[in-house]
Amino acid sequence: MRIENDPKLDFKDVLIRPKRSTLGSRSDVDVNRTFRFLHTGTDWTGFPLIAANMDVTGTIAMARALKRFGAMVALHKHYPVDTLVEFFGTEDASNSFYTLGIAESDHDKFKAVKSRVPLRKICIDVANGYTEAFLKTIERTRRENPEAVIMAGNVVTGDMTEALLLAGADIVKVGIGPGSVCTTRKMTGVGYPQLSAIIECSDAAHGLKGQVCGDGGLTVPGDVAKAFGGGADFVMMGGMLSGHDECEGEIIHEERGGKKVPVKMVFYGMSSDTAMKKYAGGVAKYRASEGKTVEVPYRGPIADTMQEIMGGVRSMMTYIGAVKLKEVPKRTTFIMVGSQLNTVFGNG
Ligand code: 5GP
Repeated sequence: MRIENDPKLDFKDVLIRPKRSTLGSRSDVDVNRTFRFLHTGTDWTGFPLIAANMDVTGTIAMARALKRFGAMVALHKHYPVDTLVEFFGTEDASNSFYTLGIAESDHDKFKAVKSRVPLRKICIDVANGYTEAFLKTIERTRRENPEAVIMAGNVVTGDMTEALLLAGADIVKVGIGPGSVCTTRKMTGVGYPQLSAIIECSDAAHGLKGQVCGDGGLTVPGDVAKAFGGGADFVMMGGMLSGHDECEGEIIHEERGGKKVPVKMVFYGMSSDTAMKKYAGGVAKYRASEGKTVEVPYRGPIADTMQEIMGGVRSMMTYIGAVKLKEVPKRTTFIMVGSQLNTVFGNG
């Protein structure tokens, strides 16, 4: 047994120190980024936010809505082949990832779609990115799809980030246990504070000219700002995008003043009972640890939430004097607050 003593940080453990700058207003900053991908050599420009490949956020409606903001979606795995072929055949899909796991049936479905329509962005998603089988799947997918951008995860350490990039991933998805409807930390005791995971994995990835996507644990626009400050090239979120019209989920209404008003929507982890029941028989393909089901407030169209998130990032950039999103990590100084101070300096 070993103990690591250096402090590991979550978003709540830090704030970003303001810096003197000549920037006048939020409109002077550019929240888009351009990336050149490691294995394909192709470029992508946009706002580097990706909706999670979960039932209510990885939807086709979400893909169409987020594309208007230059953002992306990893579609969930459960659309029928014909629906996927139709969608990926349209210009609307240019910012969308096709998602698969490591099961042979996932690969067969992928091949069936790919035989009918080109798939240029692929997300290989497993709960535990530390297995040999996962590395083999990345290698095989890279070999069979030299022209596709591959995002793969999840891992939380620099060594494994490098391994995934060398196996063929362009973007490594980072995060074990931080998700809002994830119970991995409770059920298994395994996890890694998300901001530190982003800091350490992005450092490893950037050394190899790869990118990372900080996945999970973002609860407010300020967390997105901190993730970018820590070196995340992309961020992925579920909870923050749940509860909207584009979630293609059921809206729960309540009687108020004689009128039926929309109040809540259901949001669940992809290994929760809800997901397992919905896709009965597919249990083994899902995440090893459980997830939970929650009701979230109904929040209307996603456009308002996207404006809020992008506004928060813009404002952070004016506070630290970053004209471009790319400059944010260089201009970020985190100050430790709250619980971490006790960890580092003792409790009294
Ligand atoms: P959120 O933005 O809601 O905090 O986190 C979204 C992320 O949680 C997803 O992208 C995925 O990585 C993770 N996730 C989704 N469903 C489950 C689940 O049932 N169990 C676990 N362990 N993680 C999940």
